[in-house]
Amino acid sequence: MIDNLKAMIDEAMHRLESVASLEDAENLRVKILGKKGELTEMMKSMKDMAPEQRKEFGAVANEARTRIEKTISDKMDYFRELKKQAEFAAETIDVTEPGIVTPLGAKHLISITIDEISRVFMDMGFSVAEGPEVETVFNNFDALNAGPNHPARDITDTFYITDDVLLRTQTSSVQVRTLLAKKPPIKVIAPGRCFRCDTPDATHSPMFHQVEGLVVGEGITMADLKGVLDSFAKQMFGPDSRTKFRPHHFPFTEPSAEMDVSCFKCGGAGCNICKGSGWIEILGCGMVHPNVLKVGGIDTEKYTGFAFGMGVERIAMLKYGVDDIRLLYENDIRFIRQFK
Ligand SMILES: [Zn+2]
Repeated sequence: MIDNLKAMIDEAMHRLESVASLEDAENLRVKILGKKGELTEMMKSMKDMAPEQRKEFGAVANEARTRIEKTISDKMDYFRELKKQAEFAAETIDVTEPGIVTPLGAKHLISITIDEISRVFMDMGFSVAEGPEVETVFNNFDALNAGPNHPARDITDTFYITDDVLLRTQTSSVQVRTLLAKKPPIKVIAPGRCFRCDTPDATHSPMFHQVEGLVVGEGITMADLKGVLDSFAKQMFGPDSRTKFRPHHFPFTEPSAEMDVSCFKCGGAGCNICKGSGWIEILGCGMVHPNVLKVGGIDTEKYTGFAFGMGVERIAMLKYGVDDIRLLYENDIRFIRQFK
């Protein structure tokens, strides 16, 4: 009987040596030490043995049991560790490997220019107002003192959606919205997109951008207009810039003027940018017409104001030396990237 036991133990130890996985070790444990395991079965047979024989058999069997348990436990630890190492290896991140480069975009020149203009005016205490691109005929023309016979209202110049609704031809419509929504003092700029029936060429586009400005308060005069816009020119085009105002006509301002800035390329001597004159036309401006203030219910005896509007494309093209407005809308990445 004891020989059978010893043979069984030798066999078990031999099999344990060739265990190759965690599963193998567990299977073998059940097979030898489980409820119906080989060693367990043998130990059950002890109850039929004589006391002397049982003592010796029991000692051998218990010693074997401890040894086998320890061996299996060591094997299992070994395979668990192996498995953990393999998992670590699979999850390793090589921090020295080059990353996936996301190409960075660049701000469009129109956005850059609007941001520059806005920053100058915001530094002077202006806030930014916005209005819709689809506008009423009233806000775009009537309220701005451009009566039924004004030439800009012609269908050859303006995109009409219905008789009363159009694509705004100027950001001046935001003046009307602001006057209706706010009480003086008012100090806003309104950058935005405008539309006119123009055939695209080097200097015309049916879609373009303007920045509008409106100031309304007590005691606002032409001197305020000139001071603000001269300061704007110096911040936008350089501290040596000079400005001059030429009389002009707009229906919504009286008196009206156009402002020229001394050429920022030649300084006034004359060059191809200023076409030899030394001056560059930058914007239109004037004192807000009382009829426009009245639309907003503003007391024209108490309040006066000034307004101005400038073309963003024109300023961008002059400042960055772009010679064709269409380049701004072709979305050619090689063009856009230059202004990063
Ligand atoms: Zn010049």
